[in-house]
Amino acid sequence: MRDEVERAVHACPVRAIRAEVDSPLVDPTSTERDAAGLADQSFASPSRIVVAGASLAGLSAAETLRDLGYHGDLVLIGDEPHPPYDRPPLSKQVLTRRLSTDTSLPQPRDLNIDWRLGAAARGIDLIAGRIELANGGALDYDRFLIATGTRARPWPKPDEASVDGVLTLRGRDGAERLTQRLAASPGRVVIIGGGFIGCELASCCREMGLAVTIVESESVPMRRALGQRIGAFMATVIRDYGVDLRLGAAVERIEAGDASTVAAVILRDGTRIDTDLVAGCGKSRLIVVSLPFIAWGTSVSH
Ligand SMILES: Cc1cc2nc3c(=O)[nH]c(=O)nc-3n(C[C@H](O)[C@H](O)[C@H](O)COP(=O)(O)OP(=O)(O)OC[C@H]3O[C@@H](n4cnc5c(N)ncnc54)[C@H](O)[C@@H]3O)c2cc1C
Repeated sequence: MRDEVERAVHACPVRAIRAEVDSPLVDPTSTERDAAGLADQSFASPSRIVVAGASLAGLSAAETLRDLGYHGDLVLIGDEPHPPYDRPPLSKQVLTRRLSTDTSLPQPRDLNIDWRLGAAARGIDLIAGRIELANGGALDYDRFLIATGTRARPWPKPDEASVDGVLTLRGRDGAERLTQRLAASPGRVVIIGGGFIGCELASCCREMGLAVTIVESESVPMRRALGQRIGAFMATVIRDYGVDLRLGAAVERIEAGDASTVAAVILRDGTRIDTDLVAGCGKSRLIVVSLPFIAWGTSVSH
């Protein structure tokens, strides 16, 4: 158990919590009570529960249903092709290659899940009790759980968003692309958005010896999470770490160079941050990586 927890802490706190919860500390009588509650709601009778979103919440829900004695069909729909994985390491150890992009969540036992990966749920027929899938298929359900999480905010100008070197960091595939670009030693990485994920990416860049700029529209980084005072302290720490931190600044547009790759980020006050191939933009949600790419990483709730 100790080994498991130590490995988990290294990779991600979520795994550590899971390792602890798997211990005999869980009160079995509470599980029985909950199972009885499920039966009252007719969850325990043969039926089909369909979950949209095959990530942390979807998998946890599936485990909990089985823990509570649900024996019916359990279907997990995921629009990504991957089985459930941890996102936190994607902006940390994965970028510096201390972990591979395979951060699959542990599945301690066979949950007898009918996996439907690689096709999004795109509609619900509430009368018929049917989920429509993006691949044209359909699934009948008795109960339906939506666990579709959050998604990255797209850069609002599609022509700039599609410039080579503009990347999104939200999932495993984006992290893989970002990791490859970082390994190619870009001249400067410009990150638009000094929230947690932006600052984590900046930290990885410095660890790899890369020049990095954060463009943040707020007066301090991570202000929504940390507040003004601690945010101001963090600004000092981040600058001490060698990050070019531009506060109260916003990116106006991303410029492409001759080879249609990112060339520069133009700030709202007209400042041009030249990079060989980089441009960035957006509110505090966009992470722009100069030469030769841009990425944005944080997400917005649905
Ligand atoms: C780079 C990164 C770093 C992070 N670091 C931390 C951290 O250090 N600490 C922390 O506490 N949190 C962190 N988070 C946040 C944490 O990962 C999320 O809170 C967690 O992933 C939420 O899990 P979820 O299952 O609710 O949603 P998500 O993980 O967003 O999963 C939702 C899933 O549903 C899928 N989906 C969406 N629509 C559909 C559809 N119509 N049909 C089928 N599937 C669909 C999505 O593709 C996705 O796979 C980080 C997030 C990111 C992106």
